[in-house]
Amino acid sequence: MLTEFDRSRYQRNVLVPGFGEKGQLLLAKARVCLVGAGGLGSPVAYYLAAAGVGALGIVDSDRVELSNLQRQILHGTTDVGRLKTESAAERIAALNPDVALQTIPERLTAENAEAILSAYDVVVEASDNFATKYLINDTCLVLRKPFATAGILSMSGQGMFVAPGQTACLRCVVAEPPENVPTTAELGVLGAVPGILGSLEALEVIRYLTGYWKPRPNGEVLVHSVDGDGPRLRTMACPRRETCRCAPLWRD
Ligand SMILES: [Zn+2]
Repeated sequence: MLTEFDRSRYQRNVLVPGFGEKGQLLLAKARVCLVGAGGLGSPVAYYLAAAGVGALGIVDSDRVELSNLQRQILHGTTDVGRLKTESAAERIAALNPDVALQTIPERLTAENAEAILSAYDVVVEASDNFATKYLINDTCLVLRKPFATAGILSMSGQGMFVAPGQTACLRCVVAEPPENVPTTAELGVLGAVPGILGSLEALEVIRYLTGYWKPRPNGEVLVHSVDGDGPRLRTMACPRRETCRCAPLWRD
């Protein structure tokens, strides 16, 4: 049962058809790990905390830089030089003190990924590099942990939600990390673009945790693309690939 306070706080969630108190209680039990407290991670953290997830882990080893602030809305001008996990935790605690926060000011590596991610129900990949995106994909396949992933550059971006064994994975869509792709440090990024993709990641995670999310019968993964210079939104269903490293998960 929700308390009177929570019933009031989350009234607009509970009123959504199919959500109800049951959805809210499921969110309150959920543990989500957010990897990256930057442009994508900011809306993810805000919307998950506002929605009432029980626990949020925030993994990021970076410190806030002045050039982050036009898109990384978790951090403010006076946070420049601080650890992003610290300023993120402060903002999230102010928004919703009932969310149990774990700050992990480390870079996710092949050595620590399993230990860190295994403590959570769902992972949100909100990093700024392909090495981390593929590391999270591969670790979540091993752990059979669902995850949202997204990437952005300039005025466009893509995102998807992967449930190992139930959907195709990132490597089914793009088998190996692309090389020689320009970075946002070179081609820039308009803050509203990660705002859209991060919000989409948060929405998919909330849908998954509260029972709205369903796998497609053929295991396709939905890849959402944002073309900010249209602007246009497009969704493609991508099939699983029989030679992908996720294929063994389909057989058992
Ligand atoms: Zn795959």
